[in-house]
Amino acid sequence: MASIAVCPGSFDPVTLGHLDIITRGAKVFDKVIVAVLNNRNKQPLFTVEERMELLRETTKDLKNVEVDHFNGLLIDYVKKQNANAIIKGLRAVSDFEYELQMAAINRKLDEEVETFFMMTNNKYSYLSSSIVKEVAKYQAPVGDLVPEVVEEALRKKYAFS
Ligand code: ADP
Repeated sequence: MASIAVCPGSFDPVTLGHLDIITRGAKVFDKVIVAVLNNRNKQPLFTVEERMELLRETTKDLKNVEVDHFNGLLIDYVKKQNANAIIKGLRAVSDFEYELQMAAINRKLDEEVETFFMMTNNKYSYLSSSIVKEVAKYQAPVGDLVPEVVEEALRKKYAFS
């Protein structure tokens, strides 16, 4: 059986921290589906389509990575994709408590699906999409935090907002 993992998140927008987790995950699993969460409770900067496009562009060299989106319960989406794993990145102790809770509830909903955690690369332990947006909003450079296409997309967003 092929090992298929879903890597869920907001990716608003994708950062080098996300890409590090996706690239490492793609070495371990046969297929990684990066799934953009369409979260109606959050006011995103980029639309789901824009976030998917940036992900596609930045993962195009990873042949076993696909980009998709989902609504509703993650575990339902995972099952629909015939996946058997969820990949998450952990940055700090503050991520841990929430992720522990999520992993526990997902296991309760379906104990066949396993959640795998990867420790952040030290270089990116401080990096989040929110921090990137905060910096980019004030026209400060974000070139060492996100891929070039994302930097360009941020520049356009904030120039027209
Ligand atoms: P955020 O908006 O906080 O950057 P997302 O919801 O888009 O996060 O995150 C998707 C996944 O990527 C989560 O599992 C998150 O823990 C992980 N992640 C985000 N940034 C990093 C990073 N710098 N290093 C490792 N994992 C990360």
